[in-house]
Amino acid sequence: AKALGRNRFRFFSAGMQDLVRARMSIGTGLRAAIEGDRFRVVYQPQYRLEAGRLVGAEALVRWHDPELGDVPPSRFIPAAEEAGLIVSINDIVMAKVLAQIALWRMRGLEPPRISINVAAQQLREPGFVEQLCRRLDERAVPAGAICLELTEGTLLADIEGTARMFERLGRHGIAVSIDDFGTGYSSLSYLTRLPVHELKVDQSFVQGIASEAGKRSIIVAIVDMAHALGIEVLAEGIETESQLAFLRERRCEMGQGYLFHRPLGVDDFEKLMV
Ligand code: C2E
Ligand code: CA
Ligand code: CA
Ligand code: CA
Repeated sequence: AKALGRNRFRFFSAGMQDLVRARMSIGTGLRAAIEGDRFRVVYQPQYRLEAGRLVGAEALVRWHDPELGDVPPSRFIPAAEEAGLIVSINDIVMAKVLAQIALWRMRGLEPPRISINVAAQQLREPGFVEQLCRRLDERAVPAGAICLELTEGTLLADIEGTARMFERLGRHGIAVSIDDFGTGYSSLSYLTRLPVHELKVDQSFVQGIASEAGKRSIIVAIVDMAHALGIEVLAEGIETESQLAFLRERRCEMGQGYLFHRPLGVDDFEKLMV
């Protein structure tokens, strides 16, 4: 029994070490990636469901590390949040997207509105709005060319501050979208106090459309409530024609998902612009 106990302990501790090592190497790798400009941005097209017209794209970060290979965002974004590196990474993505939009415009292309993921933490940094406006000005990119995606949960800690921030963004013509809507806090009343332009229905609801009545009901409730408040709805993770049909019928305005396109590199995304 003693030997087993010891083995078990050793096994456990080896597992822990692996975990710690993996964490450390992601953290170290992320710092190197920030220094070495190793991030890339891909664009997932967004469509107006009624007309089938391209109206936007979400900018999504990609990281290729020489040692770790392609690390999925689901692994490194939480690690970056933990390591206090998420603001730096989002900032890099923001800079890349603004430079790309400026380049497209210089070449006479008309990119649709690009949605950029922003951390609530970032929004609370003093001078965030001013800095963003300055960056837009420097590149002659109009405010309407971008939209900021923020996840629900993090905003509610300071609802008054968030409302003030959204108002300021709105005055500058910068749209705000609430990301992964429905997965966070259950109180919806805060929406009446936030000047928001769009709700993004989380893909977990969309992917339950065929099999789960409860998820269908939630989508219907979200869409109706959003419309009552004058907010448009974008569904993410649309993979099938029947999901699309349901969302159209329920008057969800926009969507993105593998049914339309996976996230695309710049060259492929450009081909969709007229
Ligand atoms: P998210 O913001 O909810 O982004 C949507 C994710 O769903 C993307 O995964 C996208 O590739 C994936 N997706 C899109 N359509 C479909 C579909 O039809 N089916 C399925 N199964 N998945 C679909 P990705 O790129 O791996 O990103 C994962 C998460 O990482 C994102 O979830 C977002 O929370 C985070 N993330 C990605 N880029 C950034 C960034 O630049 N900054 C921050 N803060 N977070 C980011
Ligand atoms: Ca997002
Ligand atoms: Ca999302
Ligand atoms: Ca999501």
